[in-house]
Amino acid sequence: MSTNPFKDPAAMAGILGELREEAEKLDRRLTLMEVCGTHTHSVAGAGLRRLMPEKVRLISGPGCPVCVTPVDYLDRALALAVLPGTVICTFGDLMRVPSSTVSLERARAEGARIEIVYSPRDALDLARANPELRVIFLAVGFETTVPTIAGALSEAEDEGVPNFLLLPGNKTMPQVMRVLVDDPELDVDGFLLPGHVSVITGWRLFEFLTEDFDVSGVVAGFMPTDVAQGVLALVRQVVEGRAEIGNVYGRVVTADGNVRARELVDRFFEPSDEVWRGFGTVPGSGLGLRTEFDHRNAALIEVTVPAPAEPVGCRCGDVLRGVIDPPECLLFDAGCDPDSAIGACMVSSEGTCAAWYRHERWAEGVGS
Ligand code: SF4
Repeated sequence: MSTNPFKDPAAMAGILGELREEAEKLDRRLTLMEVCGTHTHSVAGAGLRRLMPEKVRLISGPGCPVCVTPVDYLDRALALAVLPGTVICTFGDLMRVPSSTVSLERARAEGARIEIVYSPRDALDLARANPELRVIFLAVGFETTVPTIAGALSEAEDEGVPNFLLLPGNKTMPQVMRVLVDDPELDVDGFLLPGHVSVITGWRLFEFLTEDFDVSGVVAGFMPTDVAQGVLALVRQVVEGRAEIGNVYGRVVTADGNVRARELVDRFFEPSDEVWRGFGTVPGSGLGLRTEFDHRNAALIEVTVPAPAEPVGCRCGDVLRGVIDPPECLLFDAGCDPDSAIGACMVSSEGTCAAWYRHERWAEGVGS
């Protein structure tokens, strides 16, 4: 079996050749950021960072939904999990993420009722089958995930399933990207825009980058050739003095995205201020349940939540803001690895630290 990470090595060679030619025309080094966990792993898995011309630097931002989920969200989920007659349902990635006390996985081992589900509908099915239980789904994820959550809510409302609730924690990209563009430590020249999110939102959502900041963005797919095409398109814009929203993932992403999915989301959710790990509260960057659905909002259930405490020494927040690469954390491969992860960025399969550990630590001269 071939171990070549490129489906089409000749195509990749051609793109990289064009990229080198364009990069030669730059009068400075560019910093380009991706904000999608799948891009993070595509870049790392294919070794794209090392294939970039000297004048192109690729960095990762807050693209992993589990990683940006703040510790107090997990603390609240744990507090809810020990209430009588309550079941917490979550995607598996969240299970091992540390809270201020223990992980959901540890709490389950100690007797809390916590179920791993593969979709919000699984949680709804559990609620239907167990009307005596209160089933709380941990609503974590970006624009891509929310329509399926809204779909489950819609079914629960239409069928009158009263015991299906959410702990709202969904996040949206634009406001946190404004924070990133404004960060003087980063000086981002362009964004590789998330393909999955853009399927729902459409690429027009990102026009604020050019209109308000004169910064480029290009939507890209997830094969290494897709990512390299996106980088080439970004570099070309800078060389030609343009700042536009491009789309090299036209086979899937349109200007306006999935309007019906967004209408479904709008029925249940509205913009809210949301806490992101590494960023603090970012106004308007979350999706809160509309007040008419308070009966499904588990955040309104009174529980005692401890003061939030991050793992000592973990620099996940700096990794998520793109101000350090994972090897700059002193714990990287020196106490923190996927088998004994300390922070969310190593725990999650989409995390930047996990991607670097799996694919890039040898090349960077890090590790034993
Ligand atoms: Fe946190 Fe581990 Fe990443 Fe360091 S290497 S930032 S401890 S997750």
